[in-house]
Amino acid sequence: MADPQSLAIVTGAGRGIGRQIAEELLAMGMTVIAVDLQEDLLAALPGALDNPGDKLQTRKLDVTDSDAFGALIDEVATQYGRLDVLVNNAGITRDGLLMRMSEADWDAVMNVNLKSAFVGTRAAARHMIRRRSGAIINMSSYSGLEGNRGQANYAASKAGLIGLTKTTAKELASKNVRCNAVAPGFIQTEMTDVLPDQAKDMALAQIPLKRFGRPADVAKAVAFLASEAASYITGQVISVDGGMHT
Ligand code: NAP
Repeated sequence: MADPQSLAIVTGAGRGIGRQIAEELLAMGMTVIAVDLQEDLLAALPGALDNPGDKLQTRKLDVTDSDAFGALIDEVATQYGRLDVLVNNAGITRDGLLMRMSEADWDAVMNVNLKSAFVGTRAAARHMIRRRSGAIINMSSYSGLEGNRGQANYAASKAGLIGLTKTTAKELASKNVRCNAVAPGFIQTEMTDVLPDQAKDMALAQIPLKRFGRPADVAKAVAFLASEAASYITGQVISVDGGMHT
């Protein structure tokens, strides 16, 4: 159990992995600010999660709106007098082969997946440093560790998150602020549901544990990194991919 006063912000929490992370952190006793683009997903969230009680707050926000994202972090950290955990989970794909990839698709993925994590980290760190305590978790990917055909933009953004994670960890360790990343493999969510069956079969064949991951598999790793149990761990990337990246 976490300190019952502790406060976490989770981006992209309306569905998929982010929703499960919100659920895990709530189960640890934290207050969770669930951030997402879509109002209807957020409206459905309290019913979708087990016993959210009054510890769940939802906020509609586009994380690429840097001013609004920074302002939200400042607002809730001031309101609660602390910010313990930031999970930079919001992410998108705009897949296509490198030679056909547009700059618009490159920029869109970089802005949501990588730049927002920088903006969120910088804003959150100010509050965490003040209290000499905090944990930031960035959602990277197997694609960021290994590269993936058709995902030059996505893989670059997820590799960039690893660089951001390691640098943040080095810069903030003396202030007892930790920063780690999780690198999921193939997790069953709406992001992967849209892939053709052939692509899913090919992905499954590469997974040593012979099953796709579940959002809970990733959320458990995030919850661990957010917890006191991980108080001596910073600058690390934990793969949650059924054994693909070793
Ligand atoms: P998902 O089902 O597509 O959910 C992503 C969530 O992020 C959605 O609720 C989405 O909102 C939100 N979001 C997107 N852009 C946003 C923005 N600009 N501002 C605020 N929220 C935004 O994806 P997922 O599979 O749960 O993935 C979550 C994270 O894990 C992503 O970073 C993804 O890259 C990473 N990941 C996933 C897998 C996998 O196999 N699923 C593997 C490796 C890494 P909307 O509903 O409005 O789009």
